[in-house]
Amino acid sequence: MSVPDARAIEFGCAPKRGPTFVRGSVATLWDEDGNEYIDCGASFGPAFGTTAKATFVEKLLSVAPRNLGRVFLSNSGSEAVEAAIKFARASTRRKKIIAAMRGFHGRTMGALSATWRKDFREPFEPLVPGFEHVPFNDVEALQKAVDHNTAEACDRTGALLILDEVQTGMGRTGRLFAVERWGVEPDLLTLAKSLAGGVPIGATLATEDVERAFQGSHNSTFGGNPLACAAATAAIEYTVRERLWERADHLGSIGVEKLRGLEAPSVREIRGLGLMIGIELRGKAAPVLQALQEEGVLAIGGGSSVVRLLPPLVIPKDQWSSALDVLGRTLSHG
Ligand SMILES: *Cc1c(COP(=O)(O)O)cnc(C)c1O
Repeated sequence: MSVPDARAIEFGCAPKRGPTFVRGSVATLWDEDGNEYIDCGASFGPAFGTTAKATFVEKLLSVAPRNLGRVFLSNSGSEAVEAAIKFARASTRRKKIIAAMRGFHGRTMGALSATWRKDFREPFEPLVPGFEHVPFNDVEALQKAVDHNTAEACDRTGALLILDEVQTGMGRTGRLFAVERWGVEPDLLTLAKSLAGGVPIGATLATEDVERAFQGSHNSTFGGNPLACAAATAAIEYTVRERLWERADHLGSIGVEKLRGLEAPSVREIRGLGLMIGIELRGKAAPVLQALQEEGVLAIGGGSSVVRLLPPLVIPKDQWSSALDVLGRTLSHG
């Protein structure tokens, strides 16, 4: 599957000039046609294309939701979210952004303004104005909040929908993108964490309409660098070849079933989508996380009372079983 007009968006920056580079050595650069150039623009950032970036952009857009034909590359999840916020505002000329209560979108000032947790926000106030939070999955509250000043969500008002798949993207939830489960068409979608298999990268996908309406400029020196792009291309190829989202779906259901079967009194609820599992406890998560660590299993918290499991999608089945055994023992004793 290839997208014929797949391309990186330069978002208001000088249009990409001329050559696409394949190789460099000391101060010499070579383009696709074998032409040689003396580099007097080093350390400036990605003014020119590289084959590594072009290959990655095409690969990413070939697997992305079909209505998203443009991508801006950065270096982290927060940067991907910052870009989405800027693109939404500058494309709609609207100021208001609605985010979900209890959501996390990163810790730079714009992304933090969309993030819910008070203890993350308060020491750094004033944050970016124009953000409002509504309860997650509360359609009525969302309908009320989204009006003609909103730069996010809903066809009724011409607002844009931004989906943050920094954590859920690339197979984690049992689909390549979590949005596939709901058949929603976002205008902007952010990716980072698993995108390059551990090498820092961020991506903000957008529709052609968003790009066309965008006024202003946005850029990143290291965004789209050849190292991250090569790693991300390899990660996507592996994910698609091994159909890792199916593996996440399968191993995730084994996990959820087993954990639900425990009927441990300390557990309030088991929630899961693929290999993203939350164990909500009646008490604090910290002592359970500590006990798991002592047994050789590393889980993470999610709020104060949730034990979160995010194993790599390549985890061997026997190791996943062992981890679940340890969880079973620890939760039953807790
Ligand atoms: C981790 C995360 C971010 C922030 O990503 P960083 O790379 O830490 O800046 C944003 N949104 C979501 C949903 C995340 O899970």
